[in-house]
Amino acid sequence: MTKIDIRSADLAQITALVEQLGEKKFRAAQIFEWIHKNGAENFEEMTNLSAELREKLAHNARFSAVEIIQTQISKDSTKKFLFKLESCGIMDTEGDSAIVEAVLMSYKHGLSLCISTQVGCRMGCDFCASGIHGLSRNLTAGEIVAQVYKISRLEGERISNLVLMGVGEPLDNYDNVISAIRLLNHEKGVNLGQRHITLSTSGLVPQMYALMKENLQINLAVSLHAPNNQIRRKLMPVARSYNIDQLLDACKAYTKNGRRITFEYIMIDGVNDSIGNALELTKRLKGINCLINLILANKVPEKGYDKSKDRALAAFKETLEKANFHVSVRRELGQDIDAACGQLRNTAILD
Ligand code: SAH
Ligand code: SF4
Repeated sequence: MTKIDIRSADLAQITALVEQLGEKKFRAAQIFEWIHKNGAENFEEMTNLSAELREKLAHNARFSAVEIIQTQISKDSTKKFLFKLESCGIMDTEGDSAIVEAVLMSYKHGLSLCISTQVGCRMGCDFCASGIHGLSRNLTAGEIVAQVYKISRLEGERISNLVLMGVGEPLDNYDNVISAIRLLNHEKGVNLGQRHITLSTSGLVPQMYALMKENLQINLAVSLHAPNNQIRRKLMPVARSYNIDQLLDACKAYTKNGRRITFEYIMIDGVNDSIGNALELTKRLKGINCLINLILANKVPEKGYDKSKDRALAAFKETLEKANFHVSVRRELGQDIDAACGQLRNTAILD
């Protein structure tokens, strides 16, 4: 008999388990709280349950192993955590365990955590380190939420903002990511507000429409990175499946009930950062309620791209602002420990 992955289970599934074990229904809420509010990592910790029930639970359910194996602290105090998950099985060609990373940033308004949703990524964007070895496997909902609970426990502080922008394409692991968001948002759990969660996607159009139907109030960030199909296809293979008009139609639909969308735009020297590119972008995005977040390309040794020159960045930003767009430039945090965007990997280089 395979045991239930208890950290991935929702309250209804835990209730079904508890009833199957001949226990009262209210025990399910207690178990849920232990896992999703207190970050319990085994049944032994659940001291308000009888020893007999804890034993029955351990027979029928399990906690997947999620271990922090390395922590690095940057000069700017950004922290990068390396997580070891259960092995990828036959798909793990490296013969290694599954490794993912999470990055913690400390701001005036609290802790902001960036977590991973897949071991590797199969989207193959040309500038990104996460996809170099392809996809090994999806994270379960339990593995996604465990990153939040572990780090929050370790820091002794609540995570106030969560971004799904670490390793992986969240919408390529749709069901588990949606389950994880619902677990994190649950009133009996850490109760993280949906408006404090941002999901970043490379632009999987059908899943974006599916996401709209979930009626979640999460923020959506879309990695646009180019003003036209030609440049976008060069940088991102996903742009060959969905053209820029299809992507922007989905974005417009997302903003229908007052939600604002963020476009991420990586600034690469001589590739997508001319004033002409900026003007084309203003025409493309005209009328969309959005914020444009410019990200200077971070160095990935295997890739030949350089970040834009300061002058090009300033001129690009000014062109967008003149057309009345809201523009921000992402601070380059954690670069010295390879914790910046696109520098996260699924194969850790351990000392
Ligand atoms: N897969 C999702 C989320 C993870 S990537 C996505 O692509 O949106 C998070 C962000 O980092 C994306 O906007 C991505 O395009 C960006 N990124 C990837 N490689 C980068 C690099 N070398 N420099 C700067 N940003 C990068
Ligand atoms: Fe995957 Fe995002 Fe990296 Fe593209 S940028 S390879 S979608 S993680």
